[in-house]
Amino acid sequence: MEPEPRRLLIFDLDETLVHASEFSLAHPCDFEVGTYLVYQRPFARELIEFAAARFDLAVWSSSSAAYVAAVVERLFAGVPLRFAWSVERCVQRVDARSNSYVYIKDLRKAQKFGYTLERMTIIDDSPEKIARQPRCHLSVTPFTGARDDVALPALLQPLNALRLV
Ligand SMILES: [Mg+2]
Repeated sequence: MEPEPRRLLIFDLDETLVHASEFSLAHPCDFEVGTYLVYQRPFARELIEFAAARFDLAVWSSSSAAYVAAVVERLFAGVPLRFAWSVERCVQRVDARSNSYVYIKDLRKAQKFGYTLERMTIIDDSPEKIARQPRCHLSVTPFTGARDDVALPALLQPLNALRLV
């Protein structure tokens, strides 16, 4: 019998795994991308390694392709990814309430890698970006650089449960 295919776990970057700012926080940044100072969320690398042992991984950010490539190179070094997508793969919509753009991540686009929507989960701090597939969304609070942030270790349990679904 064929083993069950692994689930695809997709990571958002900004405010999920990192916080990037043009302004310095009270503590030093972890690395720089262009004019941005990038602060890694506590436990980010540990979570990635935990996830890589259990799921197929991908990245989907609504930032630019160059920024995504630079952050992935630092944060996911040595970890295979099915894809690392940027804003080009998002669907741009105008949000009537704020009169600003929302970049939607329509997970159906990732089905071409051989995963059904039922076998996909995205960890993202922005529910409005996953509005089309809310059942695939594992929500996390936005990270704004705090060194005592503990949201990522709290994902270990739900991720373990997800693996058994
Ligand atoms: Mg985000």
